[in-house]
Amino acid sequence: MADMRELYQQVILEHNKKPRNFGKLEPCTHHADGHNPLCGDQLRLTLQVEGGRIADIKFEGSGCAIDVASASLMTGAVKGKTTDEADRMADQFRAMVRGDLDLSQPNDLGKLTLFQGVKDLPVRVKCAVLPWATLRSALKGEEIASTE
Ligand code: ZN
Repeated sequence: MADMRELYQQVILEHNKKPRNFGKLEPCTHHADGHNPLCGDQLRLTLQVEGGRIADIKFEGSGCAIDVASASLMTGAVKGKTTDEADRMADQFRAMVRGDLDLSQPNDLGKLTLFQGVKDLPVRVKCAVLPWATLRSALKGEEIASTE
């Protein structure tokens, strides 16, 4: 899987250098703050949800490379999706980085499966999951996300 690892590193570096959807939506319909005390990652998500669909989403904050790349890829992946679809992706992503997703079965993650290697880096799992946990909190109307 050397190619996968190389591709993963390239994508992480590239999204760190140029994070997609970085900034703040004003006004927004949903927002939440995420914090991963283990690493120090801080994230704020702002969303514009229209008719059950994520019309736009942005993130800001500071975090490690995995956190920023995960937020950058996540915002791109869920934009235009319904909130139910985004919720299902959050479930699958969380299961994947914990090693609980059977990747031989169809899933909704697309290129997000690049993060599958995170399951071998237990201290990084929360960094990768933080944007998804924050998304879920925002959609539920909770303002503070937990990575638990
Ligand atoms: Zn981190």
